[in-house]
Amino acid sequence: MNTILITGCNRGLGLGLVKNLTRDPNPPIKLIATCRDTQKAEELRSIAEQHKNVHILELDVRHFDRYKEFSQKVSDIVKDDGLNVLFNNAGISPKFTRLNLVKLEQMMDTLTANTVAPIMLTKSLLPLLKKASLKNSDQPMGIRRAAIINMSSMLGSVELNTTGGLYPYRCSKSALNIATRSMSFDLKSDGILVTCLHPGWVKTDMGGVNATMEIDDSTSSIVKLLLKLEEKHNGGFYQYDGEPMPW
Ligand code: NDP
Repeated sequence: MNTILITGCNRGLGLGLVKNLTRDPNPPIKLIATCRDTQKAEELRSIAEQHKNVHILELDVRHFDRYKEFSQKVSDIVKDDGLNVLFNNAGISPKFTRLNLVKLEQMMDTLTANTVAPIMLTKSLLPLLKKASLKNSDQPMGIRRAAIINMSSMLGSVELNTTGGLYPYRCSKSALNIATRSMSFDLKSDGILVTCLHPGWVKTDMGGVNATMEIDDSTSSIVKLLLKLEEKHNGGFYQYDGEPMPW
């Protein structure tokens, strides 16, 4: 893959993905890492200083009115290569809520950041994904051509929901899953692969200290999985190691 854009790279899984991709023996030629505030993203800035292929762009995924300007900045970086991979990683998770405690604002905020934003950002960056796909039309479906990866969660699985609660987060990831499936049909003729991933339960600010996986274990597996993605993965839901997830 020549070019990849990952959202939410100042901490957690996004930062872990950047670390793994820069360490890779075949790193992307251009890795665009987004964060909300470059000044606060110290670790990301230090990676970008050491790896000239890392480009930091600021993006709050809820600021839809800035998408046009943002996409132009991405285009200026990737130029004729287009964008091989869009990794919609940024997300939020409000505290656990039972039905009687659900707040309207939490529902709206979580759906905006976790569902609406990945859909609208994908729409905005689609010309660049199509450009990469066309340029690499001799390649099979996968990240060497063009792919969209949506960071989902097992908490968005209907089948695995045996405990209830978590309305904002579960609904947002479930909706992202079905959006992934729709995109996989809509973009198939463009040769763009679309899939959603569960990264494992990972020790990030969101996953918490009791999580079972380290960031590096999850993100190194995800990077290996990215390389293996092919047509059969289009429209699917997988965990970090490629095992299929129940919808
Ligand atoms: P963290 O809370 O550690 O990091 C979240 C990232 O998303 C941060 O970079 C944050 O930036 C960014 N972000 C949040 N809101 C916005 C916004 N409006 N605009 C731009 N960036 C934003 O979470 P994780 O790294 O654990 O989660 C990453 C993804 O993985 C999420 O989509 C999450 O749902 C998913 N996931 C995580 C699991 C886990 O166990 N950790 C399990 C299943 C799924 P900032 O620092 O500015 O807030």
